[in-house]
Amino acid sequence: RDLISAQADDNDLQIEAALRPKSLGEFIGQSRVREQLSLVLQGALKRGKAPDHVLMSGSPGLGKTTLAMIIAYELGAPLRITSGPALERAGDLAAILSTLAEGEVLFIDEIHRMARPAEEMLYLAMEDFRVDIVVGKGPGATAIPLEIAPFTLVGATTRAGLLPAPLRDRFGFTAHMDFYEVDELERVLARSSRLLGVDLPADGAHEIARRSRGTPRIANRLLRRVRDFAEVRADGLITRDLAAAALNLYEVDAEGLDRLDRAVLGALLRKFGGGPVGLSTLAVAVGEEPETVEVVAEPFLVRQGLVARTPRGRVATAGAWLHLGMTPPPDVFG
Ligand code: ATP
Repeated sequence: RDLISAQADDNDLQIEAALRPKSLGEFIGQSRVREQLSLVLQGALKRGKAPDHVLMSGSPGLGKTTLAMIIAYELGAPLRITSGPALERAGDLAAILSTLAEGEVLFIDEIHRMARPAEEMLYLAMEDFRVDIVVGKGPGATAIPLEIAPFTLVGATTRAGLLPAPLRDRFGFTAHMDFYEVDELERVLARSSRLLGVDLPADGAHEIARRSRGTPRIANRLLRRVRDFAEVRADGLITRDLAAAALNLYEVDAEGLDRLDRAVLGALLRKFGGGPVGLSTLAVAVGEEPETVEVVAEPFLVRQGLVARTPRGRVATAGAWLHLGMTPPPDVFG
């Protein structure tokens, strides 16, 4: 597994749990989302009712799971966690919905990957707090309506565009999570290093933050790798130069691009002359699934102004050529 990949493995999950901010006040960055969400929650608490359903969209590792936990915490409500791929049949969802406590928060991660029948059951549950349990098969089948406790659904997706409109429309509030700024990641790192008991001077934090792809999960992971390096190869002090040397070793470059990012850029420039090229052609060229390129690499490359999405395909900007130490052709924009 790639060091930089924003997906979490088991070891990560344990450390991540320890580093998770518990309340909205502890949550760093995303100030607009924080303010919007705070109003939604306070309004609901004031009225003594479950708040509207909340949809969160954004790249992996930006804090969607963390926010779902915070929503439950701020409401003083229990939290149930599941994910789209786990809801293969309507019955899987019915089993959860029918046992929810009043006011419970139900978090469905990767909600865009839920199976169709479960999705249709969810529409009714979100709107009327009711599910139809189908008994029997064929012409004799009957639907028995079952009331469920009012709950708040929190859905997370890396690809809001993939959600069917009827599902999207049933969320009262959508939080768009953006990549974090460097100074916000510095604060994430300061907090994590305090919790992990790591001595992290400001210049070391800055170097890690600016190589973290705008993503707190990656910042926390790079911090651990840099700490290893500092303890094994040096006296433990994380200076700017030491952080840079450690991250170079792990193939994280000065802009935070990892191996996959550079492979995508490299293919775009060397094999396709800078594009335009279609996503799936590009994915084949780097030996990855189109979804991985689209969800993991591309959003960050676009954000850094290295790649542009056009109706004719993906195009490299002048910055991309310069980043890989190549001369842009004369007609390249940007
Ligand atoms: P995925 O989509 O892969 O599930 P996610 O968006 O749900 O990822 P989280 O698991 O919530 O991401 O966050 C990853 C890690 O980053 C957590 O351990 C948490 O400690 C840290 N983190 C995320 N957001 C923040 C934040 N705003 N402030 C401090 N730490 C954060």
